[in-house]
Amino acid sequence: KFDKDYGQHILKNPGISDAIVDKAFLKPTDVVVEVGPGTGNITVRALEKAKKVIAIELDPRMGAEVTKRVQGTPLAKKLEVILGDVIKMPEMPPCDALISNTPYQISSPLIFKMLAMPNPPRVAVLMFQREFAKRLVARPGDALYSRLSVNVNFWATCKHIMKVGKQNFKPPPKVESDVVRIEPLIGSARPNIAFEEFDGLLRIAFNRKNKTLYAGFNQKEVLNMCERNYKVYCTLNNIPIDESLASAADLAAAGASNDAMDVEMDEDDNDNDDNEENNDDDEAMEEDEDEDMPVFFKEQNDANAAKDAKTPSKNPKSKVALIVKAKLNKVLTSTGLADKRARQCDQNDFLKLLLAFHEEGIHFS
Ligand code: SAM
Repeated sequence: KFDKDYGQHILKNPGISDAIVDKAFLKPTDVVVEVGPGTGNITVRALEKAKKVIAIELDPRMGAEVTKRVQGTPLAKKLEVILGDVIKMPEMPPCDALISNTPYQISSPLIFKMLAMPNPPRVAVLMFQREFAKRLVARPGDALYSRLSVNVNFWATCKHIMKVGKQNFKPPPKVESDVVRIEPLIGSARPNIAFEEFDGLLRIAFNRKNKTLYAGFNQKEVLNMCERNYKVYCTLNNIPIDESLASAADLAAAGASNDAMDVEMDEDDNDNDDNEENNDDDEAMEEDEDEDMPVFFKEQNDANAAKDAKTPSKNPKSKVALIVKAKLNKVLTSTGLADKRARQCDQNDFLKLLLAFHEEGIHFS
């Protein structure tokens, strides 16, 4: 009896198991990680081609099943079964190739886990539900373009391999599937920035992908996080916080440009895609209540902020907050991205933004 909670849809068409393994172009020296071997349909084929297969399986019954399947054959000594949840493992075992008929509930965390590996595999051949696979290959402007799409295409190249109908599984899932081939950039080709930094910036940008980046980066939670990180950055690097940066002129300028952008960002209020993004990929960031404030109150707020900026602050904590806000908005303006929306930005825009933030000591992880 298969357990649907474990996403157990076993491949019953051997042609598809063959194709998945073939598309990894395994070498006899390769170590392969397979996530969710189930009864071992894909596993045995990979064992025939590779030096070793490390099969990570959550369900002990399936772990026993795949072990039994190769018992007494020459393949047995090439198989290592690890019982457990791949997502909860502190690190995925190093490997040359990753293959999986992916349990649908871990599609997103599995991809993120692989992309975050400092030494990711050369290739991953993965089967996903069709809607999820479409998000992987989505481009700026596409409805399914998301934080996931940017990350995959920044840290890897991704290609659609084949469509797989639901009748090929037992029991059949509700939706159709797709196989994709992902080739992570490795060695010197891998961008020389921290995964958590790039992803941290994307989380903010795509939390409200239909809003301007200006609106996204000026949410209270984001400003608070950037302030905390900035203080840590200054402490770790022995940088005295230059309070003169919080000059009235800088802050008034930031306040003045805000008015125009607030009005403009209110024109577009459809954020449904973002909610989807949050459900799928990570916990939702709290909504900024300022966002839905009538323009009149926003203007009052901005006027107050500019007034506060002119009065010397008695509270040093709030001064750092003002410096960070001014830095954020300086970067958004100088990169020309303040009034763009995440859904329109490509990976070069996001990289440009991240590097400019780093120049200002602003970090996201
Ligand atoms: N590879 C087999 C096949 O293609 O016939 C089975 C694929 S089935 C879609 C997914 C498998 O992943 C199941 O065996 C399930 O128990 C296992 N699984 C589910 N969640 C997992 C997790 N978090 N970590 C490791 N394995 C998991």
